[in-house]
Parts: sequence; structure tokens; C-alpha cells
Amino acid sequence: MTTPSGACPHAHDDAAYVLGALSPTERLAFERHLPTCEACSTSVRSLAGMPGLLDLADARVLADPVPDPPLPPALLASLTRTVVARRRRRATVVAALAGAAAAALALAVPAALDLADRPPSARWAATPGPRHPRSRARWSRRATCP
Ligand SMILES: [Zn+2]
Repeated sequence: MTTPSGACPHAHDDAAYVLGALSPTERLAFERHLPTCEACSTSVRSLAGMPGLLDLADARVLADPVPDPPLPPALLASLTRTVVARRRRRATVVAALAGAAAAALALAVPAALDLADRPPSARWAATPGPRHPRSRARWSRRATCP
């Protein structure tokens, strides 16, 4: 049997059944349901070992947990130094990249403006042209023609 949403109405009873926490009425209803529902049967089989595992736990440890050992006093200072060094390194890299970008812009913008101010034939001569010697010769003839 499932709910309109498709979930088993006893889907949350499996662990309580295994641990013996259901009331007698709920237990009887769940035991009648088990043979008809593969999901609940599988869940109960997977939880069957849980009571035995819980019996192995030391109740004194659960009642009075052992506190964690204290952290070394130098740990905070070491972490702080590491974080500060990383931030400083990151700021240096960002500043260097920003400087490189500004330098590239400072070089590229005047060159582009200079090319835009020249007449078309001068623009041909100012561009580097092809690398292959035959293409380069053809290109330079074209560049010198008006
Ligand atoms: Zn079920």
C-alpha cells in the first residue's frame, strides 16, 4: 500500500520496529504490512544488526563524552600567517596583472589611433604583413602601390 504521493505509509516505522519502540498496536500493523511491502522488508533487513551494534557502545562514553584534546597554542598564529601570506600573494598577482593590462592598453590605444589617422596606403605599410618570403614580396608590392 502506498500514499497518493507514492511513499509507503509505514516508511518511517522501520527503525522504530527494529529497536522495539513501536506501541503494540503499531507493531501489529507493521508486522501485517511487512509481507506486502518490499521496501519496508528490505529496510528492516538492513537495520536488523543495529540493536547488536548499539549494545556494543559504552554507555559511559555516551553519557560523558571525552573532550577533544586542546589545540596547540601556535596553531592560530600559524594559520593567521598562512592566510595573510596567501592574501598578500593574491594581491600582488592581481596588481601585476592589472599593471600588465594597463601597459598593454597604453601601448595599444595610441598605436590604434595612429593607424586610424594614417591614409589607407600608410596603413598597409605599417602592418607587419605575411612571414613567407614570396607572400611578403607580393604583399610589399601591394603596400607600395597607391
Ligand atoms: Zn512499506
